[in-house]
Order: sequence, then structure tokens, then C-alpha cells
Amino acid sequence: MCVDCVEYAATVPWAKWRRKIEEKGPMAREYDVIVVGVGAMGSSACYHLAKRGARAMGLEQFGIPHGLGSSHGESRMIRLCYYEHPDYVPLLHRAYALWNDLESEAGRKLLYMTGGLYMGAPDSGFIAGALRAAREHRLPHERLDRPQLKERFPQFALPDDFIGLYEPNAGFLLPELVVATQAELALKHGAELHGHEQVMEWHDDGKRVRMHTARGTYSAKRIVFCGGAWSERLMGGIGVKLMVTRQVLGWVWPKRPEVFEFGRLPVWAIDHPDGTQHYGFPMLGALGGAGGAGGRSGLKVAHHFKGEPTTAETIDRIPRASDEDDFRVAVRRFLPEADGPLMSMMVCMYTNSPDSHFIIDRHPKCERAIVACGFSGHGFKFASVVGEALADLALEGQTKLPIGFLGLGRFG
Ligand SMILES: Cc1cc2nc3c(=O)[nH]c(=O)nc-3n(C[C@H](O)[C@H](O)[C@H](O)COP(=O)(O)OP(=O)(O)OC[C@H]3O[C@@H](n4cnc5c(N)ncnc54)[C@H](O)[C@@H]3O)c2cc1C
Repeated sequence: MCVDCVEYAATVPWAKWRRKIEEKGPMAREYDVIVVGVGAMGSSACYHLAKRGARAMGLEQFGIPHGLGSSHGESRMIRLCYYEHPDYVPLLHRAYALWNDLESEAGRKLLYMTGGLYMGAPDSGFIAGALRAAREHRLPHERLDRPQLKERFPQFALPDDFIGLYEPNAGFLLPELVVATQAELALKHGAELHGHEQVMEWHDDGKRVRMHTARGTYSAKRIVFCGGAWSERLMGGIGVKLMVTRQVLGWVWPKRPEVFEFGRLPVWAIDHPDGTQHYGFPMLGALGGAGGAGGRSGLKVAHHFKGEPTTAETIDRIPRASDEDDFRVAVRRFLPEADGPLMSMMVCMYTNSPDSHFIIDRHPKCERAIVACGFSGHGFKFASVVGEALADLALEGQTKLPIGFLGLGRFG
């Protein structure tokens, strides 16, 4: 130490300062908001909270990102003509804007626009619902009859009564890269994130929420639960049953790969009479393998339906030979030129709410807690705007975003 520093140190009342710190408790462990679960929604919440200057902490039981929850597998579809309900469309407009902001701030490409093609019987809930959203919100779209479909998208072999709805403003996001980017920007804005630290217990002491992990205790004015498939156990009863299901993603090597490349194939979905859909993405090889995000070889196809019921703790994450049936049947029937060898499969989880709509609300038993769960297999595209809504709720107690229809009140 230089002479000046020694002289300065002699004047500092160390003992008094230490006593003050001890009286106030462990200052470094107190936060404005703690986010539990740093997956798609949690990493976005941490980013928005930190960007607004809040002292934010994110606790994640696995790595950031990881492949054991609901936010992995190379690509996630984003679309506007929302057949699930037109009320989602205003949120989607905001989500797109926020994805663009995130890309600009990070200097990374996360969202690829390919257009979206939805195929089915004209009176199906899927096609009629997408058309309803398109008309109600004046979204650009084209209705394609059977000959037009055949001419523009010869990759598909479809029943004669099928029509198509094409929307230009659809595409896909790179989920692992999105989670990593949101987490990195959250850190840049001053958030603290801890990977491999599971929240084991929490309680509200009347003034703050206290959170216990194997490494320590943390406290915050507000807590945001983004626990995905672990939500029910983590949150301790919000009065709604969430059903976790096992979902399989598949990649095949097409007989004619060139017609399924990025640039030639939009994101797509085909409806079935039972109300489920098969869907898929273009091959991402032209992007250097999922835009350099650890992508897989081949054409990705999956089935949007409620798979085998399971739990986050007991799910069988190893793909089984029989899992291939889930998507092979659609490849064989609707994409005959893609019907080549199996390349890989991956297991993922849906956390289904009773009506398949999201749940974003205050915890019914704890004023200081906010819950975001039940994304029911279609939440990823909204992660950017969900993070913004959660930051609003945690910091201001309310949001101007139109999320009222996603509240717990609808379950009575
Ligand atoms: C196969 C498949 C395909 C899909 N396709 C699409 C699509 O094309 N488009 C679309 O928009 N959506 C899609 N989805 C849905 C979307 O991916 C999910 O809705 C979204 O990823 C859910 O994000 P989440 O943050 O709720 O969950 P996750 O990302 O799983 O995050 C929850 C996190 O909480 C952590 N956690 C839980 N408990 C604790 C604890 N006690 N302590 C610390 N951490 C904890 C978990 O480890 C996990 O990281 C798909 C989902 C699947 C499974």
C-alpha cells in the first residue's frame, strides 16, 4: 500500500461500518425482484427488470440455457394469424417489436422471417381461427385454394378439400440463443444470475419474500415465478391444475433436401380432424446450422398435441424408437419427398393449463409473488413481451399490456 493509502485507511471507521452491515443483515443478498427459473420467460423478465434499473436476481436450477425444460430444440415458430384466439394479436405485435429491439441491442440475429403456411379444411378451427384473427386485426394474409397451394408449395401432398392460409409475417426464433442473449443482456444491465442453484423453499415474512437455496438465503420485495414444467411444485398451489406432457421433436434427412431449405420452405402447419397439427421448419443448413446456435442436421417436424402426461421430475428424456411414429406418419403422408432417414429426436415438455391459454397473474396466496406459467406449447414467441409484462407487474403493480384475458380469474 502506498503511504497515502495507509494514511487514508487509518481514518476509516472499519468497526463502525462492519457493525452497521451486520445490523442491516447481508446487504448483498437483498433484491428488488427475484426471478425463479431462467428459461425463456425468466431470462426475459430478468432482462427487462435490470434494464429498468431494478436490482434483479435470477435463480436457475440448471445451466443457462439448458436442454431439460421447454425452451430447447433449435427453433420456435412465431406467427401473427393466431388461431388460438385473436386477443393474442396485440401482444404479438409488441412481441415482434421487442424481438427486433433485442436483436439490435445484442447485435445478433435471433428471429428469421420465412412466411408461414397453414393448411387444413376450410371449416376447421385451425383455419377458421387463423382467418378470424387475420380479419379482425387486418393482418396481411392470402387464402390459397388447392391448385394455388400445389403450384406455390409443391413440397406438400394434401387432401383435395384442404386450403392454405399464407402469412408473410411468420418465421422462427432460435430458442437457446434467445435465452442466452436475454441472460447476457440482463447481466450487462446489472442483474445477478446464478445457474445450478435450485430454489428449495420460499415464504413471505410479511415484509419481503425469502428464498432458500443450497447456497444461501435471498430476500426481495417481489418474486416472479417462471418455473415452466416445475411450476406447480415450486409455487405451492395457485388453485389451477397444470398438466405436464412429454413432447418429441424429430429431424429427418429428406430425399430431396434442396426443396426444404431455408429460403424455399416457410414455417408450416397441417391440421387434422382431431384438432391437433403437425408442423415444421425449413432446414437451417444454409444458415450455418441454425444460425450457429448448435442446430441439428435435417428437416425438423413435430406434432402439436398433448403428449404423454408426465412430471418434470420423472419424465423419460431419452427418445424411444416408438417416438418416431409421432411425426413419421405426417412426413410419409404430407411431405413424401422428405421421407428419408431419421437423423435425431429430442424430448421437451409442455406445461398445459386447463384451457391451453397462458397464466400471468399475481399469486392468489401471496401479494408479493407473480406467476407466469401454463404456456401450453405455444408460449415461446411471446417471451419478449411476457418479460416486459412481468417487469411491469413486479415494479409498478400493473401493466398497460392487454394480458387481462390471461389472469387466474377466468378459472373462477
Ligand atoms: C416441443 C416443443 C415445441 C414448441 N414449439 C413452440 C413454437 O414453435 N412456438 C412457440 O411459441 N412456443 C413453442 N413451444 C412452447 C415454448 O417453448 C414454451 O412455452 C416456453 O419455452 C416456456 O418457457 P418457460 O420459461 O415457461 O419454461 P422453461 O424455459 O422450461 O423455463 C423454466 C425454468 O425454470 C427453472 N426452474 C424450475 N424450478 C426451479 C427451481 N426450484 N429453482 C430454480 N430454477 C427452477 C427450470 O430449470 C427452467 O429453466 C414449444 C414447446 C415444446 C416443448
